[in-house]
Amino acid sequence: MSTHSSKMVDVSPVAVPHAEASSSGGGEPAGPRRSWVEVDLGAIAANTRAFVELVQPAQVMAVVKADGYGHGAVEVARVALEAGARYLAVATTSEGVALRSAGIDAPILVLGVGGAAEPLDRLVEAGLSATVTTEQAARRLDAAARSRGRRVRVHLKVDTGMGRLGVLPDQAAWLAGRVASLPAVELEGVYSHLATADDPDLSYVAIQAARFREAVASVERELGTRAPRLRHLANTAGALSSSDLRWDMVRIGLGLYGYYPAPHLQDRVALRPALRLMAAVSEVRTLPAGSGVSYGRTHVTTRQTTIATLPIGYADGYTRRLSNRGRAAIGGRVYPVVGRICMDQCMVETGDDAPPVGAVACLLGPGDQGEMTVDEAARLTGTIPYEIVTQLGPRLPRVYMRR
Ligand SMILES: *Cc1c(COP(=O)(O)O)cnc(C)c1O
Repeated sequence: MSTHSSKMVDVSPVAVPHAEASSSGGGEPAGPRRSWVEVDLGAIAANTRAFVELVQPAQVMAVVKADGYGHGAVEVARVALEAGARYLAVATTSEGVALRSAGIDAPILVLGVGGAAEPLDRLVEAGLSATVTTEQAARRLDAAARSRGRRVRVHLKVDTGMGRLGVLPDQAAWLAGRVASLPAVELEGVYSHLATADDPDLSYVAIQAARFREAVASVERELGTRAPRLRHLANTAGALSSSDLRWDMVRIGLGLYGYYPAPHLQDRVALRPALRLMAAVSEVRTLPAGSGVSYGRTHVTTRQTTIATLPIGYADGYTRRLSNRGRAAIGGRVYPVVGRICMDQCMVETGDDAPPVGAVACLLGPGDQGEMTVDEAARLTGTIPYEIVTQLGPRLPRVYMRR
């Protein structure tokens, strides 16, 4: 799944990690890395443990879709399992197969449904658990499993008001009956997804929760002792907002990586952002007053000043909407990103300071060195932390460490 190279290195916060000539993927040449994503697996472990404690006796399903929200699915999955997560979730069969190929044998739920295009044979062979929303899909899974002499675990998804995927609540018991009658299918779970759990007003969450309760009860009446053992409803926001939503398992994505779905949920649990976006200064010049910086001359120097160029741009996911708004921490000081962010590069103005070529800049991080946080970048650019981290591109190697 990862197209970027990755390896575990022991780095101090300012050391430039070196890619090895043998590092796989990413297209990154051997030698000093120019820009990279640093992932603190200690933070992932601590965040996982915080949720495990908060929601027990419910279990934690670690959501590692989209390459672990840009952090690297395999590494995050391993650490989350070590820290007490009991189940993994991905968006697609391919993402699940990639985890299996890396030797991960924990249960893995595929959250998405691919219709006729879903490679069910691969799903079955990899021993993944499938989301089922129709009888037809359940039959195809059953056939794929039987022809291989295997069984497949499925979770029935009920649409209680997200309007995206799932059987409607009044048909849940009927579908559960159909699914449970298929010989190679094990109906292990029933679940739904909340649309507004990050909203301080929980009235729509209450409506969805009531629909889910009724759907679960109808499934349990229909199946008796064969009823699914894992009932789950909450994402990160749901798990934080109310203990009533936790059922047997919670599906935690954003929180694992150290972000809160909304400011009002910050007091429920202490989380540490795991990610830093880093770049090593590639060029440093003193420019006279009146010099334009970058496309469109949206920044013009007002005095003689130092401009440091960083080899990272919007093609790496450092969004152009942070032009003239971003900031970077270099050597314990904080400088503004000036001018437009280019595809592969951007500039910071360091004034009378002249950081050496190779000095390491932190453009996004927990904020402990004054760098911009992911939350702040999301706010400034009209999006959510999910989008900021998942946009960080495959050209950036992921470098793993534990603080
Ligand atoms: C992505 C996803 C989650 C995780 O959501 P977070 O807000 O990141 O915790 C949970 N459930 C489903 C169905 C999802 O698609």
